[in-house]
Amino acid sequence: MTTHLHSGAGATTNDKAGPSRRRVVDLEGVTKVYETGVGGFSALSDADLAIDAGEFVAIVGKSGSGKSTLLNMLTGIDRPTSGVVQVNGTVLDDLSENEVARWRGENVGLVFQFQQLMPTLTIIENVMMPMDFTKSVPMKDRRPRALDLLELVAIADQADKFPSALSGGQQQRAAIARSLANDPPLIAADEPTGNLDSHTADSVLGLLGDLTAAGKTVVMVTHERDIAARVDRVVTVADGRILGGDSLGAAGEGAKRPAAGAGESRE
Ligand code: ADP
Ligand code: MG
Repeated sequence: MTTHLHSGAGATTNDKAGPSRRRVVDLEGVTKVYETGVGGFSALSDADLAIDAGEFVAIVGKSGSGKSTLLNMLTGIDRPTSGVVQVNGTVLDDLSENEVARWRGENVGLVFQFQQLMPTLTIIENVMMPMDFTKSVPMKDRRPRALDLLELVAIADQADKFPSALSGGQQQRAAIARSLANDPPLIAADEPTGNLDSHTADSVLGLLGDLTAAGKTVVMVTHERDIAARVDRVVTVADGRILGGDSLGAAGEGAKRPAAGAGESRE
């Protein structure tokens, strides 16, 4: 199954402690000002952020602090007012809207809090959608690949059901399978466990963590408590600013471990 998860073009190693880690995300001086009726509002101010291949990074902070704005910068969903956004070797600022959409389809897997699975498509059809969009996987390989990905997230038996027939956790697993459809180097998740019970949240976090072991880079906005023990690094955002730079997880890099017990990992 892991044959379907490459670490991305040019990646040299899965050894997270190794010296030759590839830079996947590089934000320099990124500012986002939203125009509002009463003038400009800085949702993100002068943000610098560098993330390497295979890192599991949590973005935390109060509601309204700018977490989603930050994540949307590195997925190209939103554009900075100033600063440079480089992801997987591409400077996004140079791309047109169409080019960004195509780039995103091949380079970023998106997972959100509330599922955006298409209700009229079966689970397997949902997972095939990104492949149909970019056409980067030959037509005949799309269904078998989608089934493999559903096996990876342990819901292959749900392949032919419609999303409404699945539990919240199963839907989130389907969304993660879909995010992997085009084998993107970066998975960007905005509160992926925000709508799940603690036990299910725990298993989804474990699944995301497993992806980094396969070389994926995972950046996740989260409100999960005690998240530092589950990820490589916690980035804290307050009032549109990244605080304190690179804070390692409490347990330190490489000491990432599964949560001790379900039921105590989120509020
Ligand atoms: P978070 O994800 O941390 O809750 P956001 O990044 O969504 O916060 O938003 C940060 C701030 O920017 C909030 O004050 C929000 O109201 C504001 N904001 C977000 N999007 C827009 C927009 N399109 N127009 C104006 N203000 C916005
Ligand atoms: Mg948000």
